[in-house]
Amino acid sequence: MLPIVRTPQALTEAMEAWKRAGHRVAFVPTMGALHAGHLALVTEGLKRADKVAASIFVNPKQFGPTEDLDRYPRDEAGDAEKLRAAGCELLYAPSVATMYPPGFASYVRVAALPDLLCGAARPGHFDGVATVVSKLLAAARADVAVFGEKDWQQLAIIRRMVADLDLGTQVVGAAIVRDSDGLALSSRNLYLTADERARAVALPEALARACQTLRAGGDVAPALAAAERGIAAAGYARIDYFELVDGERLTPLRAVTPGARLMAAAVMGSTRLIDNLAV
Ligand code: AMP
Repeated sequence: MLPIVRTPQALTEAMEAWKRAGHRVAFVPTMGALHAGHLALVTEGLKRADKVAASIFVNPKQFGPTEDLDRYPRDEAGDAEKLRAAGCELLYAPSVATMYPPGFASYVRVAALPDLLCGAARPGHFDGVATVVSKLLAAARADVAVFGEKDWQQLAIIRRMVADLDLGTQVVGAAIVRDSDGLALSSRNLYLTADERARAVALPEALARACQTLRAGGDVAPALAAAERGIAAAGYARIDYFELVDGERLTPLRAVTPGARLMAAAVMGSTRLIDNLAV
């Protein structure tokens, strides 16, 4: 069975004990409902450290009032077994009351980046992410923390925050893990009906086509417009954005530059899906 700790003090003690024994330690924050994409983060952690700890915390502060906090899938026992099998040796699973006790009043906000892209449709979301990740990293004191490129904007914000606040953990991004048809794995894919799941693949397909066009020297605006048409034709209810951006600053680009990235978010049925691709 995977050992589980439930307080920041217990997490710090366990991580410090590993470090005293001479180990390099990695930390993988998640919200649970684990799939192969999360487990790839554990694998990445094991490449860069001797010991990997993961956390599962469904963070209320990053959900909007109309979002899926209550129905977010939860399976701690199943997740713990998957983590153990992947080589993770410790799980941090604090309660909401432990993370945010009465009187909690401190927030972390990275300037500018959180208002772009997903931030426009999800006000406050990235402040919730920055706040919880700063707490998790402060308690874990890991040498390395691994995050997925699936949430590229989140990764950019966390990199900025960790650098700005001298959190002393190296932030590592891990490649997106996809299903056999190309759809990025996500805990939220569980919400899709079979029909929605089949049509959802139009999002990664549109990204891949736009990427091809741009790499071949095609103009940006028509490539993005064609991608949006493809996504709409597949029956996506709404496209929040489909943009070419600077991978670090997340600002829109009119031409491909080094580090350029295609970023997309669209709603299938009632499920908001995100994806991105390096150009
Ligand atoms: P979540 O549980 O959705 O908050 O995700 C926890 C971590 O897993 C984040 O760093 C995500 O970017 C990462 N992640 C989620 N899905 C994938 C995926 N398909 N491929 C790679 N990383 C992922």
